[in-house]
Amino acid sequence: MEKMVHIAVVPGPGFSHLVPILQFSKRLVQLHPNFHVTCLIPTLGSPPSASKSILETLPPNIKSIFLQPVKPEDLPQRVAIETQIQFTVTLSLPSIHQALKTLTSKTPFVALVADSFAFEALDFAKEFNLLSYIYFPSSATTLSWYLYVLKLDKETSCEYRDLPEPVKIPGCVPIHGRDLNNQAQDRSSQVYKLFLQRVQRFCFFDGIFINSFFEMEASPIRALKEEGRGYPLVYPVGPIVQTGDDANGLECLTWLDKQEVGSVLYVSFGSGGTLSQEQVNELAYGLELSNHKFLWVVREPSSLAFDAYLSAKRDVDPLHFLPGGFLERTKEQGLVIPSWAPQIQVLGHSSVGGFLTHCGWNSILESVVHGVPLITWPLFAEQRMNAVVLSEGLKVGVRPRVGENGLVEKVEIVEVIKCLMEGEEGGKMHKRMEELKEAANSALKEDGSSTKTLSELVLKWENLV
Ligand code: UDP
Repeated sequence: MEKMVHIAVVPGPGFSHLVPILQFSKRLVQLHPNFHVTCLIPTLGSPPSASKSILETLPPNIKSIFLQPVKPEDLPQRVAIETQIQFTVTLSLPSIHQALKTLTSKTPFVALVADSFAFEALDFAKEFNLLSYIYFPSSATTLSWYLYVLKLDKETSCEYRDLPEPVKIPGCVPIHGRDLNNQAQDRSSQVYKLFLQRVQRFCFFDGIFINSFFEMEASPIRALKEEGRGYPLVYPVGPIVQTGDDANGLECLTWLDKQEVGSVLYVSFGSGGTLSQEQVNELAYGLELSNHKFLWVVREPSSLAFDAYLSAKRDVDPLHFLPGGFLERTKEQGLVIPSWAPQIQVLGHSSVGGFLTHCGWNSILESVVHGVPLITWPLFAEQRMNAVVLSEGLKVGVRPRVGENGLVEKVEIVEVIKCLMEGEEGGKMHKRMEELKEAANSALKEDGSSTKTLSELVLKWENLV
């Protein structure tokens, strides 16, 4: 009889840090049904409803426990989103410790896997005799930068955006300092210091899972695995994306059914990305003037790009913020839906031919899995780095230029839409994305690169029981 293997996972707060680690857990128990996963979830305030509903879809051998929610007023005020996420975990540590104590007193667990923002939970691994792993829900390129910054921090003193040359991270497409992650944009800030402290710790864990795959990021993955760098073991296990079942009959899918194959541009800024009112206006006019079909997930505007990210927002109809007459004028051309779309089904729909995305890594992988090329419009976090990987490295996306006023203007929006949806370059992007889709499928086959990587580790864990 196969041995039962128990592991615990700790996601970071926020929908898009919960989903990846749950998907990873699902894949693990699907490939290895003798595995049991317990997910300990830190939250800030009440969790978004999308997070609650995703937990209802878990198989029986994945259990979830919401930890005592952290009160928003207990966090330092007006700090960066990354700091909020990390402090939420810090304040949840006593509950994580208690939960681990209770769990391991009944059953032997072999490993603890934590989202990269929940790395502090791994401090408990030794006490409970667990191996410790980071689940890094992002690219190999981003991880490479996180490990490389420790060196660059010692070698340079100016802001990275003032470096005369793009940063050459081993194995990666060169990235200009201004495109590095938000946390690295102000070296005197608290968020940068926390970032350095976090990545310093990465080298001391038993390994790091990345949601990427060899065929997509061969060069950074090879460089990460090169001996002599003192890096932790890296396990590319992706692309792990949501499968998304039961969304049939929704208005937007019925609308897509009526459109021509490959004709619709899907527009979405992730689980919480927001645009300013001026930018919403430019985007609306750009979509309208492009004359292309579109499906746009609209959110209430905000001056903070990540305003809707961590917790549920007030109940305001986002469509009120669209330019006057827009909905009426575009009723034959596009469909606008408030706040949330069944993204997996949308990207999997044959009518969708392009995706204007904020370049969150999950959205990117979902697009790759469905072969949909991109307009890369990064907002925050490491999204600008992702945009560089996609548009300059893999060449499966086109990146709009941000004007001096900080806006992507309607003329530019029209241009990138036309480039992607009708231009010669767009055709090439489509083709390259199709190839990447094939490679993604292969990586997940029984003998695929990502499946083999995971299975090797599973064997190691089983031998510990
Ligand atoms: N998502 C969705 N519907 C929406 C917006 C987002 O289902 O209207 C899902 C999307 O499929 C992805 C996740 O939310 O799985 C967003 O993650 P990503 O890493 O792209 O961006 P983030 O939310 O972290 O900015």
